[in-house]
Amino acid sequence: ALPLVTVDDLSIYFQSRRGTVHAVDGASFEIGVGQTVGLVGETGCGKSVTARSFLGLVPSPPAVHAGGRIVFRPRQECPSCHASDCQGGGQAEYDLTKLTPREFRKVRGEQIAMIFQDPSLALNPVLTIGQQVAEVFHQHRAEMMLADAGLSTDDPLLRRAASDRSSRLERAVLAAPGLRRRRNRLQKVVDEYVAQALAETRIANPRKIMNSYPHELSGGMKQRVMIAQALACAPDLLIADEPTTALDVTIQAHILDLIHELQERHHTAVLYISHDLSLVRDVCDQVVVMYAGQVVEQGPTTRLFDNPLHPYARGLLGAVPSGGQPRGGLSAIEGMVPELVNPSSQCRFHTRCAHASAVCAAHTPTLTAHDPPDHRAACFLYEHAETLGLPAEDMPS
Ligand code: SF4
Ligand code: MG
Repeated sequence: ALPLVTVDDLSIYFQSRRGTVHAVDGASFEIGVGQTVGLVGETGCGKSVTARSFLGLVPSPPAVHAGGRIVFRPRQECPSCHASDCQGGGQAEYDLTKLTPREFRKVRGEQIAMIFQDPSLALNPVLTIGQQVAEVFHQHRAEMMLADAGLSTDDPLLRRAASDRSSRLERAVLAAPGLRRRRNRLQKVVDEYVAQALAETRIANPRKIMNSYPHELSGGMKQRVMIAQALACAPDLLIADEPTTALDVTIQAHILDLIHELQERHHTAVLYISHDLSLVRDVCDQVVVMYAGQVVEQGPTTRLFDNPLHPYARGLLGAVPSGGQPRGGLSAIEGMVPELVNPSSQCRFHTRCAHASAVCAAHTPTLTAHDPPDHRAACFLYEHAETLGLPAEDMPS
């Protein structure tokens, strides 16, 4: 797959009274166009902070973007065949770490969308479902909706009701005291867009759901609404942060199927942030393993589960028996995650690693490609003392 997102040496620090917390420290990984990538690791390993930084959702301050880039290459419509997934489309890339809040508003929903573990927190309790799903269309499809309602941005009556910006115009028409026929036409179109988005998530009675409030819906239904909203504008990337953790097992399966179906239809890449390793193994093409703010391994899912390289990944992934639930998962690895305050140069896993040697306590291993080249790990077990210029007897084995 062509690269869609390249996270390149990303560092995000937090200032605390005890010092600088290296929440994300030199993380690098890739997400291909249409790919499903699982980002795994213990609570506090930096996976949520990494993913949230894709949408500028890490509060700054206290967070500081300390270095690195998140290169995003939105899909372009190919000038000759007009297919948005054609490789002839060319790539207009931009660095997500450099966007302003205003630029993020354009990207959010249209190019990158996110769903969270608890949809109740993401939905506004005082607005109807319809009003909330409509928001993404007001933001990104205003001109299209005006056109579908047969309204012209040159209509002097509309102009009088609004400023001359078409996105504001569309909202102004809905809010205008006069213009009853125009307003009704437009409202009908908005409702159709919303009903269509909800129907895509196989919600049985979209028109009824539209007029409901969040508290009237079950958890699974709310998550469907969130998915409808997230995927309404067919973004290039969906970030799903523990999307099924709060749901019961049968609903979980339906939600995952739904995400998969919509992902195929819209060529959307999905980044799953999860500590459910069975889920990751079932649905992801690639796995990225983070430990203490760093990416310690990335590779194709089957390879990573069959042959994890990094001792941490071995403990983590080896704890999942095939076809079953994780045995002990992360707790199977003894010891504690190290402090991320002012860390020194070392392998952060060395206090828990059975292979740790002198080199591991004094140097930071870098993420290196192994055979096959798309399988990378950061561990001295796979390095040669000579290449690093380090004493052979200090290397792990
Ligand atoms: Fe273990 Fe050393 Fe590899 Fe770190 S670098 S995981 S301590 S062997
Ligand atoms: Mg998290």
